[in-house]
Amino acid sequence: MFKNDFPYFSNSDIVYLDNAATTQKPKEVITSQVEYYEKYCANTHRSSFGDANKATLNYENARKTLQKFINAPTKEQIIFTKGVTESINFIASSYAKKFDKVIISSLEHHSNIVPWHMQGRTLGEGLEVVSCNDNLDFDFVEYEDILKQNPNSFVSITHISNAFGKIHDIKAIIKLAHKYKSVVMIDGAQSLAHMNIDVQDLDVDFFAISAHKTFGPTGVGAIYVKESLLKELEPYQTGGATIHEVDFLSSTMLDSPYKFEAGTQNIAGVIGFAKALEYLEKVGYEAIMKQEHELYEYLTDQLSKLPNIIFYNDTEDSIGSKSFNFKNIIHDDIGILLDKMKIALRVGHHCAQPIMKQLNIKGTIRVSIAFYNTKEDIDKLITALKKALDMLR
Ligand code: PMP
Repeated sequence: MFKNDFPYFSNSDIVYLDNAATTQKPKEVITSQVEYYEKYCANTHRSSFGDANKATLNYENARKTLQKFINAPTKEQIIFTKGVTESINFIASSYAKKFDKVIISSLEHHSNIVPWHMQGRTLGEGLEVVSCNDNLDFDFVEYEDILKQNPNSFVSITHISNAFGKIHDIKAIIKLAHKYKSVVMIDGAQSLAHMNIDVQDLDVDFFAISAHKTFGPTGVGAIYVKESLLKELEPYQTGGATIHEVDFLSSTMLDSPYKFEAGTQNIAGVIGFAKALEYLEKVGYEAIMKQEHELYEYLTDQLSKLPNIIFYNDTEDSIGSKSFNFKNIIHDDIGILLDKMKIALRVGHHCAQPIMKQLNIKGTIRVSIAFYNTKEDIDKLITALKKALDMLR
């Protein structure tokens, strides 16, 4: 019973099925936050007294933990950020700005669309969009065509759709991009909660990570950068702790990762993220994937029995999130009724309006599971959904 490891569940009788929005945190993560603030609260990389050294050591050890976790060659390739949103904005404005074309897919989160608009890129004008069909399959033929016509582009694609749980074959996406001398960033916001990531095996250039979606604290994330690209990467913000020397004529920067981490970081959050990763390592992805696979199938089976349900993509190649609607029922109404029955999930466009428009819907009801969910949670969801449907019909 993994729920016993997560204090939230002993304090709440809510059936929590909103894991794509944020995950609950294991005890170790919460303890690490209290410990930092109660016992050694100090800034990192600045002062040299005992607690400051301890904070710096734990922060840098967290970097090593994440490095090993995703099999990055060196810790200098791990740059901490506020989350995937900041990771993408950072790479967009620092590195990807110089590319004539940026290639995304039609299944992106707004965090991987709006930063490109901020650069003045729109469809056909600096931005190319690879179609995903109505089953959300990535169109590899169209992708190769776009790459052929636009070699040396910047590709930025999500790994797992938060809205639908659809998994993109990122290894194939990366390989094809490299064939046409393009550079690839993967939005891995939904990845680490569900599956192992090996950045060297993927041969990915940039991989964006979110701590709060991986059982860690909010306001923390990271970007992994391939070693050969580190030299070309410029900071997109500067300030304290990023510099070697400053006078009024110029300043010289420290090496990576320090030159990219301007200002005081979320020290407790980073330390807590490492605790989440250590916890995940203890549980193991084998157990996580087995539990999630069984749950996802059970969820799909049980939902399928409900009358007039509409699914959008096959269960195959999907993980975590399951999106659906009911014919002639407004998804918002289901959300309001389920909340009253203590079922926590998200209804709406899930920050993915373009794909909703393609499917000709305003939004969906999204159940998003984590490995700590149980069949009992699904049973409670189904009972509540039946009641809600009775009320609305
Ligand atoms: N991309 C995807 C696919 C996401 O699911 C999310 C979060 N909903 C983000 C990006 C943004 O992540 P963060 O909250 O870490 O900024």
